Amino acid sequence: MPAPTTVYRDATLIDGTGSDPVTAAAVVVTGGTIAYAGPAQDAPPAPEGARVVDLGGRTLLPGFFDTHVHFNYADTSRLTSNNLDVHPSLHAFETAERMRRTLHAGVTSARDLGGIDAGYREARDRGLIAGPRLRVAVRLMSHTGGHADFTLPTGVNLHECGNTTGEIVDSVHEARVGARRLMRDGADVIKLCATGGVSSPSDTPDDEGLTVEEIAAVVEETARHGGRPVAAHAQGAAGIRNAVRGGVTSIEHGYLVDDEGIDLMLERGTFLVPTLATFDFADREHLMSRKAVATKRALAERTFERVSEAVRRGVRVALGTDAGISPHGANLAELRHLVAVGMSPMAAIRAGTAHAAELLGVADRLGTVRAGMTADLVVCDGDPLADVGVLADPANIVLVVQDGRAVKDALPAA
Ligand SMILES: [Zn+2]
Repeated sequence: MPAPTTVYRDATLIDGTGSDPVTAAAVVVTGGTIAYAGPAQDAPPAPEGARVVDLGGRTLLPGFFDTHVHFNYADTSRLTSNNLDVHPSLHAFETAERMRRTLHAGVTSARDLGGIDAGYREARDRGLIAGPRLRVAVRLMSHTGGHADFTLPTGVNLHECGNTTGEIVDSVHEARVGARRLMRDGADVIKLCATGGVSSPSDTPDDEGLTVEEIAAVVEETARHGGRPVAAHAQGAAGIRNAVRGGVTSIEHGYLVDDEGIDLMLERGTFLVPTLATFDFADREHLMSRKAVATKRALAERTFERVSEAVRRGVRVALGTDAGISPHGANLAELRHLVAVGMSPMAAIRAGTAHAAELLGVADRLGTVRAGMTADLVVCDGDPLADVGVLADPANIVLVVQDGRAVKDALPAA
């Protein structure tokens, strides 16, 4: 039996390549693949029995990516109490529910940068749970007392439960072994900490994390295993420079990047994932430690200045929210922040589609709506080029197609 065909007609197509939108477009999906995308008048005749879905002029875009999430972290309880008070099975179901909500927000691919094991990726691929297709880091790597080390002065480690523990390394040799251990445990991406952070108990964003030599050892080790991307948690200027010099693929957060750091990123083509949604924390302060609230407040203004400068100078940006720290299932609210730091709505959309696919090394099959690509599609109400904020509200995401299958269908009945 031939694969079923669906024709989406009367769409306004934003294909993710940066081309102008095409009105009165048709997108033809056969099985899990896009067979045609473009002006309806040029579409091949639909095969007999094809299903036709009229989109009534709504905007059709590529399925979005969130390149920085933590499905493991509840966004409704204190970060430091995660997983200590629930049965592991309940925790797994809660995690799956966050994945489903994220998918329904228009995110068909996501990268979990620490906290969930590779079983979630497998469960999604086997159709046991609904969610974005996943890339996982499994655990965060840092040195003792760094951003992945949640040991308190009492000796208690609040993350020493289930699979949320950090990967602690303190030398070039240990960094290499750590990378090997993570890959053994199913990591598709290595997440290392090049600076301290906001939520960790004993360091600050300006503290440096792994050294250039340690970072370079991780990058070299992953290169020997299929060249998996290396994502660096990096907030202060010195640590950002270390990470870029060490050869990482992306700077996560990048809040205080200096001019030299921007020069280096441009030179090496390093991506920036600014996670600006985490600055919408006014209604979440009760979930954060006093240290975290104070640190975040102190960072806000300078972050928007420095990230704007990186955008102005042309650093490549991919969309990531740090969901878990920011709310799950409202991922595309990040688009508004990307516009606020100087990107056009179209550039922000590309940061969440084509450019994110490039960061993950999957741009040959995902991130754009073109013939031959995997059929991950999002249809929204409203005009996202006039107001990118329409994508932020999951209620406006009326159709989500993943691998050619409608995984959310809230289109009004024809
Ligand atoms: Zn994070």
